[in-house]
Amino acid sequence: MMHRRTFLGAGFAGMSALAWPHLWAQNAPNFGAPTPPAVGFKKFKLGAMEIIALNDGAVRRPLGAEFVTNAALEEVKALLTSQNLPTDYIDIPFNPFVIVSGGQRFLIDTGFADNGPPTTGRLRANMAAAGLQPTDINHVIISHYHGDHILGLRNKDGSLVYPNATVHVPAPEHAFWTDDARMNAAPEAMRGAFMAARRSLGDLSGSKLNIFQPGTELAPGIGTMAAFGHTPGMTMVTAQSEGQSFMYLADLTNVPALFARNPDWAVAFDMDAAKARETRRAVFQRVVSQKMMVGGFHFPFPSMGTFQAAGNGYQFVPAA
Ligand SMILES: [Zn+2]
Repeated sequence: MMHRRTFLGAGFAGMSALAWPHLWAQNAPNFGAPTPPAVGFKKFKLGAMEIIALNDGAVRRPLGAEFVTNAALEEVKALLTSQNLPTDYIDIPFNPFVIVSGGQRFLIDTGFADNGPPTTGRLRANMAAAGLQPTDINHVIISHYHGDHILGLRNKDGSLVYPNATVHVPAPEHAFWTDDARMNAAPEAMRGAFMAARRSLGDLSGSKLNIFQPGTELAPGIGTMAAFGHTPGMTMVTAQSEGQSFMYLADLTNVPALFARNPDWAVAFDMDAAKARETRRAVFQRVVSQKMMVGGFHFPFPSMGTFQAAGNGYQFVPAA
């Protein structure tokens, strides 16, 4: 029924009117605030590596028909009800990860720092609780340039949150968001996203910025993998140590209670819904058949676990 033209193929004609910055502009006070996890970090062993799931907070968003772009709201609510979840709103958490490997600490995606709504910006405190200071971070790996993933590179005053880190960014994502012609052609509602990318990456250069091709290994055992669709250059991160594997899925799905259970459903923030769906299907097939430990930025905390087949799609099984 819906033949939305793709974002890249059709300039900006295919972009949902619901531009992504509203994701965090839409706390829903009438429904109360999302409950933060009692402990906002969790450490896992992966061979000789350590993986730390961290929470930067969450937003509570009123659930409207616009959130899932290709399913009826009643159908969406029925799926939530079947999982004993509320139907008036959706809680969307923001969960970066740190991989500790070879004496180096790699932060994956940043959350908001002090640039987001009041129910976010908890990463620094949760990192401290896990025993890490911002100056301990040697590398930041960015999956894609949506604000919840990059705004936390800088404080509101413009200073770098991780002054000692090299920031690794996927080349196709960087090329897209730093293209002035594209920014100038973008509808007003999307202009902010381009500005946020410029502000966050800003004048980083030289040893501070590594623009990598998806597929490149960034350090021994730490790899990257293209997962285009949600954004033009979204890239996942893989970690392998002593025969154990972990894959950071970034925004392959938004909340899994909806988009893993129905991999064909599109969240309003998928910039190329058809490509995102194709990527989602392929990656799910792989991580389910290999029973791989995965992490997701918008998964319920501790945001690490496995997927198993369920219904039309997959069920997230949190790690114990
Ligand atoms: Zn996101």
